[in-house]
Amino acid sequence: MYKYSDIKIAKQSKNESNRDLAIKISTWDFNTIKFSSVSKLNEIDLFEKNVQGVYVIFSKLNDELSFSYVGISNNIRTRLKTHKSNIEKGVDRTYKPWLKLLNKNNQNIDDLYFGIILISDNEQERFKFEIINIMKVWNKFTNVNKRLRDRKYHCINCGGGMINATYVSSPDKEIPYSIKIKCIRKHCKKKYMLI
Ligand SMILES: [Zn+2]
Repeated sequence: MYKYSDIKIAKQSKNESNRDLAIKISTWDFNTIKFSSVSKLNEIDLFEKNVQGVYVIFSKLNDELSFSYVGISNNIRTRLKTHKSNIEKGVDRTYKPWLKLLNKNNQNIDDLYFGIILISDNEQERFKFEIINIMKVWNKFTNVNKRLRDRKYHCINCGGGMINATYVSSPDKEIPYSIKIKCIRKHCKKKYMLI
């Protein structure tokens, strides 16, 4: 069990000296994610068609998380095939950070897995699962998701798109943090806990 103060450092630090802590905490947090299935990314062709939901692409190195990306799609198979071919081609700008992280650990597409976290045709539920699970693996050293503020999860008060999500201490819980949401819309600014 980690202290909230360590979790906060690990998830928000850009400082190389916090790398080991960040990897340990993201591995620990990643291991709390419940997957309904896990397969190799190379075997995406075998995955069912037209599944809507939330997935994680990941790899491990010596039992520690070395790569993670949490994504959302209304057609997971097609989306993952796009990820796969763009990693292989290695030209799309979006995938530069992906390849950089893989290279750093001497890994490649053969080392990547995908796990399904949620199957749902409810868009807001998918957005919610996306943000919760990005925050589990969020750090500079093992994650390639872009900034949290770009997530589309809709505010429960005004229905607006952009929100700010932050970690807050929750010492009584199994995972000692909660996720606090603040709506960025000027006339709303509602604050509430996501988990
Ligand atoms: Zn709002």
